[in-house]
Amino acid sequence: CYILAVETSCDETSVAVVKDGKEVLSNLIASQVETHKAFGGVVPEVASRKHVENVTLMLEEAVRKAGIGLNDLSAIAVTQGPGLVGALLVGVVAATSLSLALNKPLIGTHHIAGHIYANRLVANLEYPCMALVVSGGHTELVYMKSEGNFEVIGRTRDDAVGEAYDKVARAIGFPYPGGPHVDRLALEAEEAVDLPRVWLEPDSYDFSFSGLKSAVLNVVNQRKMRGEPILESAIARGFQESVVEVLVTKAIRAVRAYEAKQLLLCGGVAANRGLRQELERQCREEGIELIIPPFEYCTDNAAMIGAAAYLKWKKGQFAGLDLKAMPQFSLEAWSVQES
Ligand code: ATP
Ligand code: MG
Ligand code: FE
Repeated sequence: CYILAVETSCDETSVAVVKDGKEVLSNLIASQVETHKAFGGVVPEVASRKHVENVTLMLEEAVRKAGIGLNDLSAIAVTQGPGLVGALLVGVVAATSLSLALNKPLIGTHHIAGHIYANRLVANLEYPCMALVVSGGHTELVYMKSEGNFEVIGRTRDDAVGEAYDKVARAIGFPYPGGPHVDRLALEAEEAVDLPRVWLEPDSYDFSFSGLKSAVLNVVNQRKMRGEPILESAIARGFQESVVEVLVTKAIRAVRAYEAKQLLLCGGVAANRGLRQELERQCREEGIELIIPPFEYCTDNAAMIGAAAYLKWKKGQFAGLDLKAMPQFSLEAWSVQES
């Protein structure tokens, strides 16, 4: 089974060919980070226009690089949501047109299911398993009783963790996307500013990062007012320690409570070295099998969309040519129907 997958939900245009949901034959990514940097964040209008410029050529190139012909394709998959509506529409129109022209089935795919199934590109998954999704727009603990069956047991009540990283980075003077800068500073720092941990109710798997972000902004503003040095690296380390402690503790508690066989880490913040190190250390101590995809499959890419779409391919659950972009799209609703 060869799935051609298209991802345009945010600021990466990506097209991939994935064999049997796990073997990546090609995975082209055109990042717009440099374009959006000047604006301090993603500008939706600009993102859509860039996707239009890139997607058609990338479709051809992805198939060519995979070493197959258009007629060898089994299906066309596309990220249906969640994401920016204008950006999603570009991918949906491209995939729908190709599906019509080639007379191949179309598979509407969920972006976060893609982030989770990026793990399938590097490991065999054993169910039940637990996924910790940490990205620019999402922070979730997702329980999977069986393949393609998603239950969101915890989510952020305010900022996503990547969003908090980007805002903290901006406050201490770093450009978008700021996560990697904060990560680097945190690991170099000799001291850490003392910042709160937000646990919410004792039994909750939910997260909240806006209070922590405000605490950082307060420290920065007070130091500025007093004319003191900001001590960016101590702030970065304090922030990262708080984030990592809460994420790791809740993820491990969830694995235990749900008797999950594996913990899957995914999303752009999975690139964070502080998070990876601490999660690896604690999972080793606790005897939990941890899977983390390589960096190229953590940030937005179409290979992960091909991996998730394969779940629907196996069940023959295809979309019609009236497939709609879904800026808000429930992961649970995308679960593969039992047949
Ligand atoms: P979503 O998948 O929720 O729609 P997204 O696709 O925009 O959001 P990703 O591309 O998965 O998000 O991740 C981007 C985020 O990851 C940014 O907020 C960026 O700052 C963050 N990030 C990248 N590298 C690191 C790092 N080393 N440490 C912390 N954060 C990081
Ligand atoms: Mg992105
Ligand atoms: Fe993403």
